[in-house]
Amino acid sequence: MNTKQIDQEFVANTYNRCGVEICRGKGSEVWDETGKRYIDLGSGIGVTAFGYCDDEWMKAVTEQLTCFQHTSNLYYTKPCADLARLLCQKTDMKKVFFSNSGAEANECAIKVARKYCQNKKGEDFYNIVTLKNSFHGRTLTTLAATGQEHYHQLFKPLTSGFLHTDAGDLDTLNKCVTENKVAGILIEIVQGEGGVNCLEKDFVQGVEKIAKDNDIVLMVDEVQTGNGRSGQLYAYMEYGIKPDVVSTAKGLGGGLPIGATLLGDKVADVLGYGEHGSTFGGNPIACAGALSILKRIDDDLLQQVRQKSRYVWTKLQNAKGVESVSGMGLMIGIKTDKPAREVVEKCLERGVLCLTAKDKVRLLPALNIEQELLDEALDILLEIVGE
Ligand SMILES: *Cc1c(COP(=O)(O)O)cnc(C)c1O
Repeated sequence: MNTKQIDQEFVANTYNRCGVEICRGKGSEVWDETGKRYIDLGSGIGVTAFGYCDDEWMKAVTEQLTCFQHTSNLYYTKPCADLARLLCQKTDMKKVFFSNSGAEANECAIKVARKYCQNKKGEDFYNIVTLKNSFHGRTLTTLAATGQEHYHQLFKPLTSGFLHTDAGDLDTLNKCVTENKVAGILIEIVQGEGGVNCLEKDFVQGVEKIAKDNDIVLMVDEVQTGNGRSGQLYAYMEYGIKPDVVSTAKGLGGGLPIGATLLGDKVADVLGYGEHGSTFGGNPIACAGALSILKRIDDDLLQQVRQKSRYVWTKLQNAKGVESVSGMGLMIGIKTDKPAREVVEKCLERGVLCLTAKDKVRLLPALNIEQELLDEALDILLEIVGE
């Protein structure tokens, strides 16, 4: 049996895989089982921030691997401590809780918001407001947070205490917060899975004000937008706000599983001993890799991300078959005349990996993708879109 046959027999049927087996990768290129080469504009859904088998990242990871691979959270480890410090230095947040995925990073955020408000306001202040069309993860609680009904079906009852309002509608959000007993608001600055839709600046600043006025916890889900993807270190930085909690994952580990929940002044000491935990959280290998990624997301790199973003936008906006472009930085949504799924399938055939988000084609290339590879891939994409 080949890999595809074994997978189809023994791996749960939750993924509609596209038929290609990935065997090897370097930078923004990968090769399949037949030796066919692809340019990757998806980065494993925004995870391989500096591409495949990046030299610096591999060095950091393998150096740690030769020391020790894991210990329990009963002991201190340097990669974990150093990564937490660097995250705080770069964001002005005060403390970090490490986990292993985006959903877990959001779970921690929600626990923090609930405990903060239960301590301060009473036990019934547990509601969390999120936006319609959002995506916050697949656990039963983060599914409840996700404002898309079709993800909820078949799995009810979900965790209770979640309310959803429309993005862009401050009046309804304000009413929702004042008329219910609310602990916090959780938003994505750019709704990734929802179709790469940026929230408006006025709305985001309004959300911050509502959270402040009501002394509730403002949480920003930067799982997809974070770690340089948006052209800022975190997308909220572009909007001039200061969240109380930032959750992130995906690109932070550069390809190893890690989640981080960053806690600001207001909530830094909300969680006490034994109130949250994770066996693998803060794993030294994952943290060593993340540290090497985070160190390189400096002003220079961010400027390159923004410059590449402008380049891609210009190329796309004038192209035949493109209806509209959305997103921020190297998180780009393209509404095409052709169905997005068809575009992605044809790109695959022609050796370009890209993604969909709702009815759009979605691009999440490595932050350091070479200009020549970007050009080559975009030419193929635009030829298909314009056919
Ligand atoms: C991917 C994603 C998640 C879930 O992350 P997992 O690592 O799959 O649990 C949560 N929020 C947003 C915005 C995401 O894009």
